[in-house]
Amino acid sequence: MKFIGRSQIEALTRFKGQGDLVTSFYLDTDKGRKSRKEIQLALKNLINEARERACGLAAGKEKEAALLEDLDLIAARGGQALTASGAAGLAAFSASRRGFWQALELPHGPRNRVLFDANFYVRPLVSILDKYSHICALLVDHREAVWYDVNMGEIKPLDRLRSDVPGKVRDGGFEGTSAKRIERRIDARLQEHHKKVAQRTFEISRKTPFDWLLIGTEEVPSAEFEAHLHSYLRDKVKGHLRCRVADTPAKVLAEVLEVEAGLKKAEEEEAVQKLVAELERGGLAASGLRDTLRHLNQFEVQTLLVTHNLVQPGRVCPVHQFLYIDEPRCPVDDKKTSPVPDVIDEAIETVLKRGGAVKQIDPPSRLDRYGGIGAFLKYKAGA
Ligand SMILES: [Zn+2]
Repeated sequence: MKFIGRSQIEALTRFKGQGDLVTSFYLDTDKGRKSRKEIQLALKNLINEARERACGLAAGKEKEAALLEDLDLIAARGGQALTASGAAGLAAFSASRRGFWQALELPHGPRNRVLFDANFYVRPLVSILDKYSHICALLVDHREAVWYDVNMGEIKPLDRLRSDVPGKVRDGGFEGTSAKRIERRIDARLQEHHKKVAQRTFEISRKTPFDWLLIGTEEVPSAEFEAHLHSYLRDKVKGHLRCRVADTPAKVLAEVLEVEAGLKKAEEEEAVQKLVAELERGGLAASGLRDTLRHLNQFEVQTLLVTHNLVQPGRVCPVHQFLYIDEPRCPVDDKKTSPVPDVIDEAIETVLKRGGAVKQIDPPSRLDRYGGIGAFLKYKAGA
């Protein structure tokens, strides 16, 4: 199954191991960077290393057997997927004792890893999702328009429209007032065409909702066309394309992805900038892992900002699920805390489960100076 969005992440975070350990698997299968042989070897090494780790956990015979069964499934099905799929990444989530299996094809290569934990490890999925928006690419010329849906690195044609607009009046072809009159008529037809395209774009947005609208207008200034758009759509126009109506979908996709990456980078920088400003004026913000976890444990985190691939082992209270860097006992109830391989991943999942937002920031950024993590808060602690 292809990884297409947040609903799949939510389904995975809803799954409960109920005392069992479950297995999460990620493999970079980007054939643009590695040969099939290298990828197969990486898969083999990853599984062998994980088998050793599963046996060293001292989790009990039954749990160990379940993990080894997970790994056998992943090795077999992963090998099959490698030959069948051209995806840049593979993920698999297995809880064999409970009959749960989910494999996902990813549009972006993740870091190779196998994790055993009480819950599935979804952070790489969140990172990938963060890189993409649902985009509508619209290309318009003086008589045609074409719409594409671009999501998670894939392009699909949505619609196409052709109006009956005559070509431009050529110099010397007509004289005086009649030429002007024809020009005006063509102009009116062009306006008509633009209006039709704008209306169709609105209809498309109702059927296939998108986050961003990218427009290429080829001959006229984009603003001339955009004036016809519904204000709701004008707010979604995030950038412009140089592509033309006649270009291949592959060419359109390449330009859309380039524009998208630039916009995402700018969005990240803006979010970090806002956080730093809030921190500097002592507002509703936290920074650094310890302080961010403290606010998270107090249900105050609204939006978490975290550097990509920042990993830190930590501890969790078995009663409250409160997260700590190194507290051996929960300060709230004095219960012994348990270790977790990545407390940052736990924090991300906690924020998502509570309906908050998570923004992953590509390093280097100004967030590095604040321990790579911070948050906007809902209200002030102890106020
Ligand atoms: Zn506790």
